[in-house]
Amino acid sequence: MPRVLVTGGAGFIGSYLCDRFLKEGCEVICIDNLITGSADNIGHIKDSQFSFIHYDVTNYMYVQGKLDYILHFASPASPLDYLEYPIQTLKVGSLGTHKALGLAKEKRARFLLASTSEVYGDPLIHPQNEDYWGNVNPIGPRGVYDEAKRFSEALTMAYQRYHKVDTRIVRIFNTYGPRMRIKDGRAIPNFIAQALKGEDVTVFGDGTQTRSFCYITDLVEGIYRLLRSDYNLPVNIGNPQEMTVMGLAQEIAALTGSKSAIVQLPLPEDDPKVRQPDITRAKRIFGWEPRVGLKEGLQHTIEYFKKRMGIPGSNISLNV
Ligand code: UDP
Repeated sequence: MPRVLVTGGAGFIGSYLCDRFLKEGCEVICIDNLITGSADNIGHIKDSQFSFIHYDVTNYMYVQGKLDYILHFASPASPLDYLEYPIQTLKVGSLGTHKALGLAKEKRARFLLASTSEVYGDPLIHPQNEDYWGNVNPIGPRGVYDEAKRFSEALTMAYQRYHKVDTRIVRIFNTYGPRMRIKDGRAIPNFIAQALKGEDVTVFGDGTQTRSFCYITDLVEGIYRLLRSDYNLPVNIGNPQEMTVMGLAQEIAALTGSKSAIVQLPLPEDDPKVRQPDITRAKRIFGWEPRVGLKEGLQHTIEYFKKRMGIPGSNISLNV
């Protein structure tokens, strides 16, 4: 039975990876310091092959026994979080990645790094393919995340080239779905929570900036296929369906039937003006493309938020 370690396994994406590897018949060890992750995300797991370790992976890390795969997903990931935890964000991307790679080398485990579309910064080419080097402000407020992830990629490639560790790098574009926090701070959870409460829906700037949103189950499938492939350069995983942030706010207002007003607030510093993944590489190498459309994905997410917020009319179980 393969043994898998997921750092950040109690986070939004990490918890779905724990579910997926358990379903594939693996033993799963989840490590999380719970600063932005939550025990609720893994509370439904009753599997005897699952264990949780409450630990900060920026410290020396050791796990008894063999490990086949290490998926390094620990990091604050919402702009709100990395403004609140700038040092922790830099530490987990640098020291945490170093510890996780060291463990992969020791155990001869395959290592998968959760990287991000933020490595492209405020991109000057559009859509973004993996050969683009990016346009990042290293000293801006978002730099703590962008540069930590860029360093993580550099360190991962160095371990691959110098120590011959078997590595994978996924560049994750905007992803959404159930288990995102109500106060997450990112556009989709903010807009849904505001629309359901009847509060103003806060669009930053004029809302003409674009993003492309991928549903969580599509992302997890892409990560799983990348891990199982033999490809060891970065691969974008995201949904190429691009839209404006104002368009997203309007779509969520319509789907929730909300009477909320859409208001404009100042645009945060260094907010990328456009973002859309070129997924040619993922398609070519492991035949992946997203299946869940925005409307369907948003409906699942809205149902989850209703349940969490105690709003009647939701008909799902929370163990999504
Ligand atoms: N955004 C917004 N209102 C919010 C939260 C975010 O208009 O309440 C905007 C944000 O400025 C950005 C886009 O939505 O242009 C996506 O932001 P998010 O924080 O979800 O992720 P990002 O893609 O910036 O990492």
